[in-house]
Amino acid sequence: MERVLQSIERMLDSAPRAAQSAAIQGIGIGSAGQIDFSTGTVAFAVDTLPGWTGTRIKARTAERFPDLPVIVDNDVNVAAVAEQRIGAASGLRNFICLVLGTGIGGAIVVDGKLVRGTYGGAGELGHVSVDFNGPRCSCGNRGCLELYASGPGIARIAREGSFSFADSRQVIEAWLAGDSQANQVMDIVIRALASGISGFIHTFNPEAVIIGGGVAQAGERFLHSIRQETERRTSAAMWKAVQLEPAAAGNHAGVIGAALQMWHYSVLELRGEGGAG
Ligand SMILES: [Zn+2]
Repeated sequence: MERVLQSIERMLDSAPRAAQSAAIQGIGIGSAGQIDFSTGTVAFAVDTLPGWTGTRIKARTAERFPDLPVIVDNDVNVAAVAEQRIGAASGLRNFICLVLGTGIGGAIVVDGKLVRGTYGGAGELGHVSVDFNGPRCSCGNRGCLELYASGPGIARIAREGSFSFADSRQVIEAWLAGDSQANQVMDIVIRALASGISGFIHTFNPEAVIIGGGVAQAGERFLHSIRQETERRTSAAMWKAVQLEPAAAGNHAGVIGAALQMWHYSVLELRGEGGAG
């Protein structure tokens, strides 16, 4: 948290003096974990972020920068905002974002607005089970999507097949080169993903499912395989209405989206121009 505050300080210092008074409207932050949106506190974060659960991000930022309003949201939620304004979901009002990285994050936009749930935890799409008899997940359930299609999930499948890949990147490289062992691993990954995505499509009837994160950088062949398998598992009318597209707002989507959230809530709301989330 101290590092976050220091980096905000550096950004404020490096902004031109004129811009500081004229243009900086507030501080937008996107964080991993389930974020209580009203208090800006981390309701839950997994073990990869030890001690992050319970962190009062908004309160501590507001204490340090009392002159600026602060808004805190989940990192995939803010990335979805960036995709909606400048990325692959431009102009769309119903879409799902899926980020395949060290875990699997999700965001859901319905009627132009982020679905937050009771306290802000909605959109944990990586913890939707695709195998109720599958391995135990840290959330308590079995066979969560995250156990199959995140980077560590792909490495786990390779390990259980006794294949000699060091990590998910090696699996994907070998798969793209036509390796048969990598093919067996990625076959499981793609079926798990398609099963999950089909469930999201049937639940939300979205216009698009936007897929980003490190694993998705496997590129067009990966996306093509997911499209093919998802089509087989999705009713025809639902499939006809939806596009599966790669994320387009890039590595800075979270930062841009956090700033856009601030803009929306502080500037537009104050002017009474509130619109799409
Ligand atoms: Zn889980």
